[in-house]
Amino acid sequence: MSPDVLTAPQTQAAPDVFRDEALPRLDLAAKHSRAKAETVERLKHAERFTEGGIPVQMDDGSTKMFTGFRCRYNTVRGPAKGGIRFHPDVSSAEVRALAFWMTFKCATVGIPLGGGKGGVIVDPRGLSERELERLSRGYMRGMADVLGPDIDVPAPDVYTNATIMGWMSDEFDTIKRGRYPGVITGKPVSRGGSLGRDDATARGGFVCLQEIEAKRGWNPKEITVAIQGFGNAGQHFARLADSVGYKVVAVSDSRGGIYDENGLDVKATIDTKNSTRRLPEVGRSVTNEELLELGVDVLVPAALENAITRDNAHDVKAKVLIELANGPLTKEADEILAQTDALVVPDILANAGGVTVSYFEWCQNISGYYWNLETVHERLGDIMSSAFNSVYDLMESEGVPMRTACYAHALNRLAEAME
Ligand code: GLU
Repeated sequence: MSPDVLTAPQTQAAPDVFRDEALPRLDLAAKHSRAKAETVERLKHAERFTEGGIPVQMDDGSTKMFTGFRCRYNTVRGPAKGGIRFHPDVSSAEVRALAFWMTFKCATVGIPLGGGKGGVIVDPRGLSERELERLSRGYMRGMADVLGPDIDVPAPDVYTNATIMGWMSDEFDTIKRGRYPGVITGKPVSRGGSLGRDDATARGGFVCLQEIEAKRGWNPKEITVAIQGFGNAGQHFARLADSVGYKVVAVSDSRGGIYDENGLDVKATIDTKNSTRRLPEVGRSVTNEELLELGVDVLVPAALENAITRDNAHDVKAKVLIELANGPLTKEADEILAQTDALVVPDILANAGGVTVSYFEWCQNISGYYWNLETVHERLGDIMSSAFNSVYDLMESEGVPMRTACYAHALNRLAEAME
């Protein structure tokens, strides 16, 4: 071997969120669970991964190709469940990681579903309404063979919504020549959707906040909250927290944020964001990085993966973090925060309200009997409170971070089903 080769720098493997961020959490938790080593090994592999090109006719008559993915990660506890993300940064590794997280999320809250996830590499904001519809229907045509109410059931995720779910559901019914409302959740209520699905992710996180409030004897009026990400989850969380008196002092979207130490007018902020697609120009403007480092009591990352990393974790001052996004903290950020007294309520618990009401929607679709909003809220509250307290107790008895306790709790349930 020539000396050149020996001294050549090691080529760094490209980052892979599944390998780098998802799997290590499993290994950590395995030490605190009853799962056999072979069960843990099996959970490192997806059952199936589908990728394909989606041709879409654009409004100008040209045809453009998009890449779509669907990962059926695990179906041991029930049909795979998880959203479809439309985003320019979607990758196969990200979809696999998100599907892995869904597997553990459904097990955490104890609903009889497995984990799946889908995605399309696209910036939907650059498409017309009709182009978006053709893309959504094209995705379903490509994936119809691997989806179904008892196989794998998609739902909304980042930049997808009820209208898109409605188009996909309609396309599936057309392909199969029947009515299969349980093939997809998060549909419009007029097309078999469930009441209460729209704010379910935030409401589940809000239940976690109220459990912490009870444990710590908080007076909401004295507690400040900052929210990174002002999409569906972030907006509804702000609204719910505000409704019981929490002081929402900062919010941000992808462009940046606003901060007012006396508390923002949450309703006006939501109205402006939804009518102009921008946050109002009130208070002091802050960057997304600054928002994460504010001296607030509660920080809610509600945007995308890897918002808090080893570069900024040391600067996080919040005492409680509620992860409404999937994967907002890297494992290195976890290690740094574990040295502090901050409580991190992990994504697979904190944002499980969305998939829980998706489960309710699927039940309603299968039985054909629809529930009122009160029933949805009551059952969601019961499931979230009970999962929160089981994980919290395990955290205290094992003396581990809440995320590790959560994975261990989920892993015990998965192991029970698999073994
Ligand atoms: N996309 C949401 C999540 O990450 C919801 C999934 C679902 O409702 O199936 O949990």
